[in-house]
Amino acid sequence: MSAPAPPVNKPLSAPQKALLKLGLVRDVDLALHLPLRYEDETRIVRLADARDGQVVQIEAEVMSSEISLKPRRQLRVRVDDGTDTCVLRFINFYPSHQKTLMVGARVRVRGEIRGGFVGREMVHPAFELAGAELPAALTPVYPTSAALPQAYIRKAVLGGLRRAELGETLPPAASSELHGRPAAWRQPLWTLRQALQFLHQPTPDVPLMTLEDRSHPAWQRLKLEELLAQQLSQLEARRIRAAMRAPALRPAAEATLHAQLLERLPFQLTAAQQRVGQEIDADLQRDLPMHRLLQGDVGSGKTVVAALAAARCMDAGWQCALMAPTEILAEQHFRKLIGWLEPLGIKTAWLTGSQKTRERREALALIESGEAALVVGTHAVIQDKVRFKHLALAIIDEQHRFGVAQRLALRSKMTPDSQGAPLEPHLLMMTATPIPRTLAMSYYADLDVSTIDELPPGRTPVVTKVISDSRRDEVVARIQAQLEQGRQVYWVCPLIEESEAIDLTNATQTHADLSAALAGTEVGLLHSRMPVADKKAVMSLFNEGKTGVLESTTVIEVGVDVPNASLMVIEHAERFGLSQLHQLRGRVGRGAAASACVLLYSTGDGPRLGETARARLKAMAETQDGFEIARRDLDIRGPGEFLGARQSGAPLLRFADLATDAQLLGWARELAPWMLDHEPVLARRHIERWLGGKADYLKA
Ligand code: ADP
Ligand code: MG
Repeated sequence: MSAPAPPVNKPLSAPQKALLKLGLVRDVDLALHLPLRYEDETRIVRLADARDGQVVQIEAEVMSSEISLKPRRQLRVRVDDGTDTCVLRFINFYPSHQKTLMVGARVRVRGEIRGGFVGREMVHPAFELAGAELPAALTPVYPTSAALPQAYIRKAVLGGLRRAELGETLPPAASSELHGRPAAWRQPLWTLRQALQFLHQPTPDVPLMTLEDRSHPAWQRLKLEELLAQQLSQLEARRIRAAMRAPALRPAAEATLHAQLLERLPFQLTAAQQRVGQEIDADLQRDLPMHRLLQGDVGSGKTVVAALAAARCMDAGWQCALMAPTEILAEQHFRKLIGWLEPLGIKTAWLTGSQKTRERREALALIESGEAALVVGTHAVIQDKVRFKHLALAIIDEQHRFGVAQRLALRSKMTPDSQGAPLEPHLLMMTATPIPRTLAMSYYADLDVSTIDELPPGRTPVVTKVISDSRRDEVVARIQAQLEQGRQVYWVCPLIEESEAIDLTNATQTHADLSAALAGTEVGLLHSRMPVADKKAVMSLFNEGKTGVLESTTVIEVGVDVPNASLMVIEHAERFGLSQLHQLRGRVGRGAAASACVLLYSTGDGPRLGETARARLKAMAETQDGFEIARRDLDIRGPGEFLGARQSGAPLLRFADLATDAQLLGWARELAPWMLDHEPVLARRHIERWLGGKADYLKA
């Protein structure tokens, strides 16, 4: 089934490596690598019939060929096909160009025809000597990388398509109405081979529109296959999980930690917090591993829900681990949880990468002996060396920043039960980026979702203003006004990896400017290149109110909770993603004071902002509801980008589009369980074909 492996002693060529990098390993991977678009090289168009702006293929005779020096050095070749003439213009050219395009030669030329200064022209067209046979199918153009020329990938794909095993995996019953097959779509299903053959080499008579909007039956077949593979693999993962056992965490009869913690809280839980708490409790009491996502807007109070779940776990006599993606976020949790739980007699261990060896060794010992009932930290918590005595609950904050490998590593921390059978820990993931329902249905079919849909009372809405960078002075005046009222201010600058050095210089300049403009106020600066200890020092000065303004380039680490901060300025807001902006804004408006967020934008060299940047800023100004923001984000970006392949660990749909293919998705959702029950062999083959070795991560 696989492509012949290259001889062991022969290193892979650059294009071979590039193929692997694109994930094109097996023949079937190649066969499923579909064209982005097509070029029509099947026809010769008469110049007289070619419209301006059209990409055409012509055959014509070279009438003249000359190098002109004005307006800049270029090769100009006039050709005539008997119906009209046109000029081929090359600004970069080689002697070989001139040789092929010799006066009197008959050439085949492909390119966009334009109405030029002195008659019609094609700039940098593709060309060859006329005479070769015309292809019978449209020419596919594949998604590729720089190391992989079209001709190479085309050949590789067609080879893969020829060799791949593409036997039917849809059970015959799949095409019956029984399984919710869309009624509007009554033509017989195309087979997978037919569909792929067609999409790689469509006949020229196909209406291109049906390929572009993917409504063609060949596309329908592929989308259906893809959605089915996704549903099958998630359902399979769910069933595998259902077959595993977890410790059932039944509440103890005595006055419990849970009850004491509730009593000690300085506030009442919101109705939403109570409801999600019950959902989590119910899961924890069962001997099936929980796999739950807790979503709630920034500031909705997820931490206390997590602490209560941890209390349940410890009440039952087991250990609980809490992980956050950055050290600063982890430390915040640590402080909060210690504040709540240590007075109740709970011992907590703290684990991070930057810890001193001795401290770390002590923490590890506490965890292994079970003395520490609660472990808080970063990824360090799930490293090999960490041995839990009996871990029953893992809580992961901002789960989308946790990779799949890490979730798998967590699974390796299983504890045997009294009969020696492994017990899987319960898993609770928390996120402030809510997942729209369509995505939840499709990508997270293997996940239960709890939602905190209300904010604690007494929050003041944050007023958001979108302001041009040219009005920076007004913004500084605004900062001054807040400082005079004893409030604190965040100033966030972007830090984009490619231009890190430049951004850092900008950040330092901004810091100098702000310090100068706000005489008498300390301005803290926090950036990603600083050692952790320095970051912590800057953070605690701000926490204690000793610095009035905190300028930060490290977005996530603004995960601070300073209720006295009432203004956030985000510089180059146009460079941030929508959910990032929303998360950032959530750092203000935590106290009773009226709060504001200023989105400073700069149009760069252009006269105005790009369309998507404008849409993002508009959304921010118009709504503060995380769900609405997530919905708009999905609209602006589409699900692929919304999730981000690496972030989510979910297999992205390459072909189907949840917005337009809801019907097909419904169909796949109905068919998947039936198929796992009645046609397990076909189901397995289908998953293998589509997800191959990649399916493992779904079990995470
Ligand atoms: P997030 O969901 O963004 O993680 P946090 O858990 O950090 O939110 O909570 C934000 C703030 O709201 C914290 O200061 C927390 O103590 C407070 N808080 C949480 N729940 C309530 C509540 N029911 N009533 C009042 N304040 C609350
Ligand atoms: Mg939080």
